[in-house]
Amino acid sequence: MELFLENTLNQLEQNGLKRRLRCVEGSQGAKIVIDGKEVLNFCSNNYLGLADDVRLRQAAAESLEHEGFGAGASRLVCGHMQAHENLEKELAAFKGAQRALVFSTGYMANIGIISSLFGREDIIFSDRLNHASIIDGILLSQAKFKRYAHCDMVALEKMLQESEGFKRRVIITDSVFSMDGDIAPLDKIVELAQKYDCLVMIDEAHAFGIMGENGTGLAEYFCVSDQVDIQMGTLSKAAGSFGAYVCGSEKLIEFVLNKARSFIYTTGMPPSVAAASCKAVQIIQKDPDLRQRLWDNTRYVKAALERIGFDTMNSQTPIIPILVKDSSLALQFSMALLEENIFISAIRPPTVPQDTARLRLTVMATHQQSDLDYLINKLQDIGERLGICQN
Ligand SMILES: *Cc1c(COP(=O)(O)O)cnc(C)c1O
Repeated sequence: MELFLENTLNQLEQNGLKRRLRCVEGSQGAKIVIDGKEVLNFCSNNYLGLADDVRLRQAAAESLEHEGFGAGASRLVCGHMQAHENLEKELAAFKGAQRALVFSTGYMANIGIISSLFGREDIIFSDRLNHASIIDGILLSQAKFKRYAHCDMVALEKMLQESEGFKRRVIITDSVFSMDGDIAPLDKIVELAQKYDCLVMIDEAHAFGIMGENGTGLAEYFCVSDQVDIQMGTLSKAAGSFGAYVCGSEKLIEFVLNKARSFIYTTGMPPSVAAASCKAVQIIQKDPDLRQRLWDNTRYVKAALERIGFDTMNSQTPIIPILVKDSSLALQFSMALLEENIFISAIRPPTVPQDTARLRLTVMATHQQSDLDYLINKLQDIGERLGICQN
């Protein structure tokens, strides 16, 4: 056993694929403290800076005062508390859905929703770059699993034409792809779904709070909310909190609540976490300036990186990959930046396909102009030194 572990770990190390934990002292923000040193944080999903927002802290503190810490049991036993109730009402209203249901994490939401709704007689079409939690949900469901090339609508249509004899068919896609920062062609996907009498499920993890006029996600951005049957999203990214939701029709939610094992057989999330999430959803609605700053910062950084000659792939969101390809070189790039007090982690296989290692840069609403200019300067210096930019 020890030998097996050691060999595997050595192999990861040699291939530049060994991962390690780094401890952040204090709270999450545009600047964080790692290994005793303050660095600019350009790799979190805390897009709006809400993770250490005083209003979320207060909401959680008030809940702690009244509702205590643990939920004590599954939501279906006695763990459904006022904070959960409030959050689900707030989410349903914000998303314009009949009802919403909250899971403890996005990972649990996806495996629970997909495996409860679909089975052996069904077929699922999934974008090749969908999140691991979607893939695991599909595998658990035992439905027929077809992957189409990333955002390739011709490939998807061909698969739809060739799939006969299934009870139900569903297309599942991320809204914003978490490692590429591009968006799913949801307008075309709902069109195909209509043409081939197919269901649509989207994962709004990186779109909730940032995409669309009101920040409800990509379905709003494409004005197709009514044509997406199952919408899930997480509260752990732009909302700065923790947990996830599914929303849709009353019957859909009632079904998932009765059938999803990752909802039934687990303790309800701490009510203070639900209270903080609820406050975040309110802030997202009341404070569109936050979203505006995020997009201003995003456009500024992306334009500069393209000018310098980095390959930012097809990014259309605050997730801006810098393609390096080689895993060891990506790691070297990341470490050189860290020496200049900039934290951007290297993303390597198997999180991304072979030979597409990259830095995954994410922009926040709370980065200052001087932070962005410093970042751009250092990226250019180090990128040129390591031969990563094209110009
Ligand atoms: C982060 C993420 C999840 C998982 O959400 P957690 O709440 O962190 O478990 C699911 N889907 C996508 C697309 C994600 O990016």
